[in-house]
Amino acid sequence: MDYISQRLELDFRLSPAIDKWLPGETIYSLGCRQHTVAGNAKASDTCLQLFGHRLIGTAHDLPGRVGHFVRRTKGQFGNAESCIREHTILPYYLPFRSQRESANAVAAMSGESIGALKAQLGILATRFGAAHPLKACKRCVEQDEALHHVAYWHVEHQLPGVWICPWHSDMLWIAQDKWMGVDRFGWYLPTDTKLAPCTDADVRQPDLDVLKRLADSSVALWSLPSGFHFSPEKLGNLISSAMRERELSSDSGRIRLNAFSSAITEVTHTLVGIRELSSLPSSVDQARSQFTRIVSAPRSSPHPLKYQILILALFGTWESFLERHVAKDISATSVVYLSGKHASSDNTDKRAEFLSALAETKASMNSLAHKFDISVSTAMVWAASAGIASKRRPKILMLDVRKKLIRILRRGIGKKSVAKGFGISIQTITTTLRTEIGLHERWTQARFKRAQSEARNAWAETARNQSNPTSKSMRLLQPAVFAWLYRNDRAWLERFASQLGHAPKHNHANIDWDQRDIELAKAIKSAALDWYSRSNTHLTNARLCQLVPGFKSRLSKLDRLPLTRAVLSQIPQFKLEQCQESLKLW
Ligand SMILES: [Zn+2]
Repeated sequence: MDYISQRLELDFRLSPAIDKWLPGETIYSLGCRQHTVAGNAKASDTCLQLFGHRLIGTAHDLPGRVGHFVRRTKGQFGNAESCIREHTILPYYLPFRSQRESANAVAAMSGESIGALKAQLGILATRFGAAHPLKACKRCVEQDEALHHVAYWHVEHQLPGVWICPWHSDMLWIAQDKWMGVDRFGWYLPTDTKLAPCTDADVRQPDLDVLKRLADSSVALWSLPSGFHFSPEKLGNLISSAMRERELSSDSGRIRLNAFSSAITEVTHTLVGIRELSSLPSSVDQARSQFTRIVSAPRSSPHPLKYQILILALFGTWESFLERHVAKDISATSVVYLSGKHASSDNTDKRAEFLSALAETKASMNSLAHKFDISVSTAMVWAASAGIASKRRPKILMLDVRKKLIRILRRGIGKKSVAKGFGISIQTITTTLRTEIGLHERWTQARFKRAQSEARNAWAETARNQSNPTSKSMRLLQPAVFAWLYRNDRAWLERFASQLGHAPKHNHANIDWDQRDIELAKAIKSAALDWYSRSNTHLTNARLCQLVPGFKSRLSKLDRLPLTRAVLSQIPQFKLEQCQESLKLW
């Protein structure tokens, strides 16, 4: 630890530091209070005190390094998970995501930096903006000053879709400098910064009733219990039945586009004066192009705000939607996880266009399939998944074969193996997965579990094979496994890494072996590169013994040289370019 860090940590202990959260306070707000109380001249000093970094930690929406914050504050504000779930806006984004994505998001915020978290949560891809303006209610400011002697930032005010105070129903104000990016890393309490109105005077003012219902739905979404995830299937069913009840779709499920788009516009047209919501439809045409897809392809994962708007249009309030959702639960514990990523294999654009065309015209399934250059069976699957009945039925497998097939698919076995085992086409399996209710979801989850278990086992095995494993050495040995775990199972990966340092120490002889292993593996890789740049013939161990000094005497000790062993096992598959590529790593 350098001198500055030591000094700041010492100061942090001695100064009249903040010792408790205020009700509903954000992590950023606590940082602002600490900055004031500590009397720090520079924002980076406060960030360093709280997060061990000059900049990371100052984000007012999704701060990183929360794990450092917990360690530096000796856990007096709770653990990383509770800090993130109760004092940041992250939980707002999680109920429409999978359990795995949620765990990864919490791990990213606990770790060194949030990295690509906003992209992974789909925030960057939307038109709502990823900056999350810092907002306050002026009456809350007055009340907090009277009650707590300080005005602070409330997490509920910061949620997307909240533009009216949930307690006072007053319009919120924006911290202008933060919004304009003037001082991105500064610590400013609501009374230390210029607050600007959230709409310009010359634009249409929002309907306060709609704004209140939208704000309530954002707060309700953020408040859902940890671990709650909407099932895409159930959500799709609820939306379809509400569409039919409101006569926005026919009994067969065809969307009545004009009526549906008008229902959406009724909610959105007064909201577009607010900058965050300016991309919402202000006309029926815009509503049609933006919202038909959510109803036609319910497995995609749009921004929660889009679901909120749809829910307000169909159910009036979030509360009535949730009541219907709970009533539809088969059992209180049956929470199926949403997995928007799983829908990515579909050509979602084409599918949405097809479903719009199907809803708009009376053309037959055959002619539409031909027009969209898809098979009739694909057309029927798409129609079925959107709840549109079809006169023709897909080719039916013999009942007992189908039953067996479903049983096997539930275990997550790959399409190719199943097709081979049953002597049927992959297309038939795809159709079965799509036409049996809930099967595709179950199959995808089982496949994920299998891939997760394989990756975790491979990672643990790699650690066991090294006398002194580190994340870096394991990553060199297993780049593909590392990449999979980093993308899909980051929380587990970080927990595993934190255990590595606690492995029992071995004697000094092992350190020599590790060094020898690294050097030998490097020499073998260089030799292989050189060999394959000159020759197409296989590089044998005998030839390697000639090319790499000292390799022959180590051949009997390969059990103590895991890196070398791994490089040797890769040599038969080496292509020249792979070899060149991997050499860059050394
Ligand atoms: Zn208020």
